Amino acid sequence: MKNQKKIGVIDLCSNKSNKGLWARYMYPNYASIMPQVVSAWCQEEGHLVEYVTYTGSENLKKILPKDVDIVFINSYTEGALLAYALSNYFRHHGAITALGGPHAKSYPLDAVKYFDYVFGFTNREMIEDVLKDGGRQRPIGIHLSASKQPAQLPGVVERWPFIEKNLAKARFFKAVPMIGSVGCPYSCSFCVDSTVPYQPLDYEALKEDLRFVSKKMKRPIVGWHDPNFGVRFEDYIGLIEEAVPKGSMRFAAESSLSLLTEKNLKRMNQNGFVGILPGIESWFEMGNKSKSQRKAGKEKLFQVAAHVNMIMEYIPYVQTNFVLGLDSDSGEEPWELSKEYIDLVPGAFPVYALMTSFGRSAPLNLQYQKDGRIIPLPFHFLNTFNAFNVRPMNYSWEAFYKKTIDLISYGFSRKVIWNRVLNSKSRTAKTVNLIRSVSRAGPVRVKYLKSVLQQFKNPDFRKFFAGESTIIPAFYHHQIQKDLADFYDWLPDGAIYHDPNAWLNEKEREGVFQKS
Ligand code: SF4
Repeated sequence: MKNQKKIGVIDLCSNKSNKGLWARYMYPNYASIMPQVVSAWCQEEGHLVEYVTYTGSENLKKILPKDVDIVFINSYTEGALLAYALSNYFRHHGAITALGGPHAKSYPLDAVKYFDYVFGFTNREMIEDVLKDGGRQRPIGIHLSASKQPAQLPGVVERWPFIEKNLAKARFFKAVPMIGSVGCPYSCSFCVDSTVPYQPLDYEALKEDLRFVSKKMKRPIVGWHDPNFGVRFEDYIGLIEEAVPKGSMRFAAESSLSLLTEKNLKRMNQNGFVGILPGIESWFEMGNKSKSQRKAGKEKLFQVAAHVNMIMEYIPYVQTNFVLGLDSDSGEEPWELSKEYIDLVPGAFPVYALMTSFGRSAPLNLQYQKDGRIIPLPFHFLNTFNAFNVRPMNYSWEAFYKKTIDLISYGFSRKVIWNRVLNSKSRTAKTVNLIRSVSRAGPVRVKYLKSVLQQFKNPDFRKFFAGESTIIPAFYHHQIQKDLADFYDWLPDGAIYHDPNAWLNEKEREGVFQKS
């Protein structure tokens, strides 16, 4: 083919080398759909594509595509510094570089300093234009974003060569990634999907994909990547029932509690749903998506606990998601209720996300920026897991860290882990809960959070968190250096710093939003 190009597509599922049990078993399942979509589009245009995922177990230097004309990198914000270093590395070797994924959507003004192209909502025409006419864009790249998500994406059939590569890496648990809808009709102000209009994808194409997967694998597990699976419950469960015989496939998905009624759960059970991840978020946030939206505190706890126990009668693996640090939380009560929840629902796996503001990803972030509550913690640590960048409304930083450590220590104590395993409803659920509890989520996380708490004895560290200094504390700087390893030297000057109020400043320049 004339003008055939060599394209590299890199999906960063990890920002550092990671040989932990959970990482080795599960990270290949963290691969995103969009890099596979871009790979399929490039291939259909007649280009040569090398698609790689970095999950932390590989030697990154060895797996990087060689002699490429264009490189597309997909990254969450925690992988941004590695992505910036890789972009610099590839530019040095003559390639044009492009960034997509959550970081590109959250921090486009920062990313254009290091990439030729930065993609927000991406469609096929935009990729084709860059493949055809895209030249170098330096020193400042171009931010491209469509007005909405594409109405249709390449399905499993077209993405299969890339999916297969990840399945070969995954051990024990291999999930085929599918997506049935984009966006969410609810409007939780802290959520990245709340501003993306809900849009179902083509039902016939989804059925074809399900049939294809059922022929490729024995009792496959499909992981639905929809932000909120089953908003149109009857349609989606109906298409599964039409496409494949009951029980021939297994499914896992994220869904709202309000959708998980007993009637729906019975159908999900009959159709092989083995894992579900509902969000509870907080005991005091008046969300608009759960059945308990008018309840708060203890009343909400009892209702949610009974609901989750009922879910577990139908779906063996349940992960419940919480956000720690929302403004609605104050005093001891939220933490005590969270501990009580663990006792009331021993078989569900609790995930505690630390309230983190990712640039322009959610409506609430603009208010945080206006209130001067975001600290410029380097992107490398913005993973909602080990660090957070929003000054808590009702706690000091230290008090918040102490309470978080206390809650996680309780939730992952030997007694509680043992109880979790005993109360898990299937052998797989028991194994997953055990591996997860004893690795990254439990003791490892507590150890790290304790090491952060220790740092508050250091005046420079305290100044940074108090907003009196923007100098990145050595504690964090050393970790970046260690984690980026060979690629640290490729990190562009100044890349560890970013403007935490970039979105607000842009709005002000546009005259849309006035600082008070
Ligand atoms: S229901 Fe879930 S996906 Fe939808 S906006 Fe709320 S948190 Fe986001």
